[in-house]
Amino acid sequence: MSEKPENRTGSAESQRDARAFNPRYLQHLGKELYLFDSVFNGITYIHVRELSRENKRPTTNGITLTLQRCNELYSILPDVVIHVDQLRRNEPTFYRRHIGGNWFVVMEMGYDTVNIRKFWLPDNETSIRATRKGVSLTFNQFEELKNGLRILDTFVPELNRVVPCYLSGKHVRDFCKECSPNNTSVA
Ligand SMILES: [Zn+2]
Repeated sequence: MSEKPENRTGSAESQRDARAFNPRYLQHLGKELYLFDSVFNGITYIHVRELSRENKRPTTNGITLTLQRCNELYSILPDVVIHVDQLRRNEPTFYRRHIGGNWFVVMEMGYDTVNIRKFWLPDNETSIRATRKGVSLTFNQFEELKNGLRILDTFVPELNRVVPCYLSGKHVRDFCKECSPNNTSVA
């Protein structure tokens, strides 16, 4: 339309900011935590991540999910809801569901949180251990996340084009790092 003036003091910085963080979907989950999408090198990711209080920019606190793992998370929501209700009633509960790679959704009696967390299998051991990579959602934050995931594909339509790993060309029979990352039946 018109020529872009160069070297406009101040505006270059704000334009760069707008380009760097411009999600199609952004939903507040509670406290500093948000659900949003990003595109990096042409690949879409879904984040459950804190934004800084000062400038509402993404921080390092949170998780990045591939679309495939996000769809897995979405598909197990009914199960997670059942276990949240059990925790709310103080009933004995243990829940661990694999969503891809070494990522799991975990709930445990005594902790009123829904955890989406990365695990690892130490050498010569048979059970996986939690890492520090993950988010622990309060039940209210989980409710918000659940509502967001239900409409996310309206804003991020490529979620509907992703197929489960076992149907994709990347799946490796018997030794798939996505489907059975520790080559065990932990999932
Ligand atoms: Zn696979």
